[in-house]
Amino acid sequence: MANTWLGFGAIAIAVFLVMEFVAWAAHKYIMHGDWGWGWHESHHEPHEELFEKNDLYAVVFAGFAIALFALGRFGGLPVVTAIATGITLYGLFYFIVHDGLVHQRWPFRHIPHKGYAKRLVQAHRLHHAVKGREGCVSFGFLYAPPVEKLSAELKASGRVRAEQLAERQPHGLN
Ligand SMILES: [Zn+2]
Ligand SMILES: [Zn+2]
Repeated sequence: MANTWLGFGAIAIAVFLVMEFVAWAAHKYIMHGDWGWGWHESHHEPHEELFEKNDLYAVVFAGFAIALFALGRFGGLPVVTAIATGITLYGLFYFIVHDGLVHQRWPFRHIPHKGYAKRLVQAHRLHHAVKGREGCVSFGFLYAPPVEKLSAELKASGRVRAEQLAERQPHGLN
């Protein structure tokens, strides 16, 4: 029995990691693509409102996870419940770190100054360093490439909004 639970835990963790790839692909090809940009654009523009149209993506992903939980529970498929758990954990992580730590949508006092957490925040700020949907870098989230690499990519694309580079303006990017 313990083995079974370990197995489900391993599946949930594996799905959590796979979700980074899913999120990267969805961000790059759907949200910055022709038919996904309509919702995602709101996340790349400064605004005063509490919600963004882009939040609808979170609603869609959550609906998908809830459907899987229901299928796992009522269909008697614990493997599906484990998959839904992994998806939900990734969503929670993204919500807390992306919306809280990076974008400060609620007063998140901690600002990381070293290590992986700092790199993750900088990498995502660099995603917001270009205006519009073209020429952006860093579509993933968990896997944060070094800032130097992303800066070089940005320079190569020549579309940097210099005033928004992470080093110069550490707060308040939307
Ligand atoms: Zn984006
Ligand atoms: Zn963002």
